[in-house]
Amino acid sequence: MRIPKKNELIIMVIILINTIVIAVAVFTMFSPKDTPSSIKKADYQEALKYSIFFYDANKCGRDVAVDNVFDWRGPCHVGDGKDLNLDLTGGFHDGGDHVKVGINQGYTASILGWNLYTYRDIFDSTGNTKKLISTLKYFTDYFLKCHTNESTFYYGIGDEIEDHNYWGPPENQSLDRPTQLVADLNHPASDVCGETSAALSLMYLNYRDTDTGYAVKCLTAAKELYRMGKENRGYGQIQSSYHSGSFYDDLSWAALWLYKIEHDKQYLNDAEEFVVKKSKYNNNPLKNKWTLCWDDVTLACLAELYTITKNPEYRDALDYNLNYWKNDLKQTRGGLKYLDKSGVLRYAANASLIAMKWYKTTNDKSLKVFAKSQIDYILGANPSKTSYIIGFGKKYPQNVSHRAANGYDSTEWDKQKRSKYVLLGAMVSGPSDKDQFIDNVKNYEYTEAIIDFNAGLVGALASIIQDAG
Ligand SMILES: [Zn+2]
Repeated sequence: MRIPKKNELIIMVIILINTIVIAVAVFTMFSPKDTPSSIKKADYQEALKYSIFFYDANKCGRDVAVDNVFDWRGPCHVGDGKDLNLDLTGGFHDGGDHVKVGINQGYTASILGWNLYTYRDIFDSTGNTKKLISTLKYFTDYFLKCHTNESTFYYGIGDEIEDHNYWGPPENQSLDRPTQLVADLNHPASDVCGETSAALSLMYLNYRDTDTGYAVKCLTAAKELYRMGKENRGYGQIQSSYHSGSFYDDLSWAALWLYKIEHDKQYLNDAEEFVVKKSKYNNNPLKNKWTLCWDDVTLACLAELYTITKNPEYRDALDYNLNYWKNDLKQTRGGLKYLDKSGVLRYAANASLIAMKWYKTTNDKSLKVFAKSQIDYILGANPSKTSYIIGFGKKYPQNVSHRAANGYDSTEWDKQKRSKYVLLGAMVSGPSDKDQFIDNVKNYEYTEAIIDFNAGLVGALASIIQDAG
């Protein structure tokens, strides 16, 4: 064996030191503990404010421009419902497209309403209550219009294929849109009715001290929609890719809010009966490896039902789900929990909302650490050092897949370098499982923004602000 000379030894030591320095640098770059400490309470507050603003961009109908933070939005689709001689204008476009999707509007409004009900003190102290209430009322005004009598609810407006063939601002989309879907005595839609009922009940709770008459209208509609969903059971028709896995979680969600308002034991019995029913895929709701989403509100039901009943089965179910998320679900090198590529950040934000809710009940600090790690990743503590909330931070996506914000029509498609307008507050779908993000309007799987994406985020941000004192 040849013994290295002294200068060779020095070179080897230098190479070794360099290797260690590079390794530490790479580890630091990809460590989930990278920069969370640099995110301060004021940052969460700014993100919270923006995340509510986003909804103004997706408003539909005659009153879009009223109290809208985006001066590039105006009235659109003012003929919705006229094929039936009805006024079904209003509500919210689903995402970057312009169809109005019943299950997603009901879910989004119910989660935003739940957030306000749970963290009212934070929305008050950060000056966000007025905007969130007006956003919620824009939803419920529309739901009340669509509920034309005690056994009818219109929930699907716009032909998806026709809509997706159009690229341009909603204000210039002049086509007549068909009223496609209705829940009535002959057509069940227990999932849509359940979510919409919960949203209206929460509006009653959040608004009864402001306008009792309007709140009571919401409550009456909530009870009628719940009855429709319970008595005529079945799935609503599928819109876009919204395949609901169960309608029992939606009915449980509706029933528990009616119980909270009316204290009628039948509602509680219903909520408890429905929450444990298996999905159509035979999944056990008490062993849930998914999270809160438009297709599954079981965890939100269980968290609320536990506070009412203290049933240990519900506690164990929440522990099961959150332990899975904390310890077993795959995560990126940058620390993002990766449930599914489509809207990956939405799932992380929703799991954070559930974790913070459960932390408040159990005082298990590991839940807070988990939730904060995911929200901080979204705000910029990630390998790309990019915020995934548009307009927040120094670096954020520029090419969101959103027709209104993009601002170009199809004839100008190739001219566009970036969106004409800043879609302030929109959380985009998110990066790959390698922490990589493609900032291109055509790569909607990365750059899409949809109304349900921000719903859990708003509550997760409020809960972290509350915990920061
Ligand atoms: Zn519209």
